[in-house]
Amino acid sequence: MKPRLLSRLALPVLVLVLGLQVVHDLGSASRPRLGELRYRVGVHPGGAFDVEVRVRGWRGKSPRFRLLDGWGLLQHQASHIGDIQAWTAGGAALPVTRKLADGDAVWTVEGRPGPDFRLEYRVEPYDPTLSPEASFADRNRAVLVGYSMFLVPDDPGTRRPGSLGVTVALPSGWPSWSSWPRDGEGFRPATLHDLWSGVVAGGGYTASRMETGAVAVTALTEGRDGMGLRISNRLLPVLREMHALFGAPPRGDSLSVLALYRTMPVRNHMSQMIGNSEEGAFLCLATPDRFRDADDLTVLATHECLHFYLGGAVTASSEPPFRNAPDLVWFTEGVTEFLTFRLMERAGELPARAAREVVIEKEREYRESPAAAAFSLADAARRMEESAVYGLVYSRGFLAARLLEQQMTADCGPDAFEGVLRRLFEEHNYYLDDKTVSAAQVRRAFEAACPGAGSIIDRYATGRETLPPTGVTVEGGRTPAPAVR
Ligand SMILES: [Zn+2]
Repeated sequence: MKPRLLSRLALPVLVLVLGLQVVHDLGSASRPRLGELRYRVGVHPGGAFDVEVRVRGWRGKSPRFRLLDGWGLLQHQASHIGDIQAWTAGGAALPVTRKLADGDAVWTVEGRPGPDFRLEYRVEPYDPTLSPEASFADRNRAVLVGYSMFLVPDDPGTRRPGSLGVTVALPSGWPSWSSWPRDGEGFRPATLHDLWSGVVAGGGYTASRMETGAVAVTALTEGRDGMGLRISNRLLPVLREMHALFGAPPRGDSLSVLALYRTMPVRNHMSQMIGNSEEGAFLCLATPDRFRDADDLTVLATHECLHFYLGGAVTASSEPPFRNAPDLVWFTEGVTEFLTFRLMERAGELPARAAREVVIEKEREYRESPAAAAFSLADAARRMEESAVYGLVYSRGFLAARLLEQQMTADCGPDAFEGVLRRLFEEHNYYLDDKTVSAAQVRRAFEAACPGAGSIIDRYATGRETLPPTGVTVEGGRTPAPAVR
């Protein structure tokens, strides 16, 4: 059903939003007060996780910890943390108290623990069918997602520890994959943000890896039906186009994507979760509720991978209560959605006729939306938990981006639109310089590249003006559209 689909598909946006929130949290670091954080996770198949945190080089008293939570649909994460204990380096027990602050649980190690101390706690498993986007350990496979697993220091000055490490003790013989770079026996996330958004998968997955030049994709699937190979086969050429458009990986020296698909045998083998993680960048998740189709999954994966660039590298400052920047949602979601189909078409993964059908479907969604007349994209971005409003971000956003691209191509040539995207990436890559962009900066970049573009943005992308008809038709009848979201 549509509303259900829409609400489930809200996940990729929520993840992006939360990612941004953490980015900004972490961006406000002051003087370092923490030398090293090392996590060791024991995975018990079919049971809980044991986590040990070793803290070194701590300065101050009463260190506070919290989960980097806030995930929209993952409720009561703090209630999954149990048996928390703390010890000094000499082995003396330290009292730990838990309090709620602004709705978030905060654990405080009371007193002065000294520079080196450790915590231990247990993470009770999540029901993998109710919360497929959380950490779980089945009998033969496990997924560990940073945000539902790790307590991190909550004090100013501890947001950029000198060193971060994660070791995951999986049952012997289990292969493992991770978004974090490997470091000996463990992993080394570059930042707390990476720790939060990273993933380790181990055990009974089928890995289908495709690689060409600086682009690689590994699809992990639970079945042996060839779906992983089909997905990686289709995603690879699209990723290559993405890399070509922006001219470089979001960071590091390759665009190396880990795509994770969970399937739910109890529900007809549908894919319940898709996670796309670029090594060293953040994890994008979605929980599609119907996908068994390589077209749909490629669309979804492409959209999420584009967020490594738009929303990840080129990232906006945030505004509560929706922690994305509403006045830039036309860019982070609308342009992303438009570019998803554009790159698939360019890579030969979307026939021209199907691409026209996407436009028709977006236009139908937009025109039929009861909210269309009343909402700008920024308004809609503030109310995305409402399914009727949510769809508007992707229909109106797509159409506004398409209109902007058409206008710029007509006025300033075929490279104008994508040239701005590339320049924004080159000049505002958060991964390189911690800088964010404002809505005004993005508008200025488009206007500078093609005078008149700013007015299109004002009227249709951030404004409420009704979009003109696209005039797109599919000749010879309708063909089934690929996923439209
Ligand atoms: Zn998105």
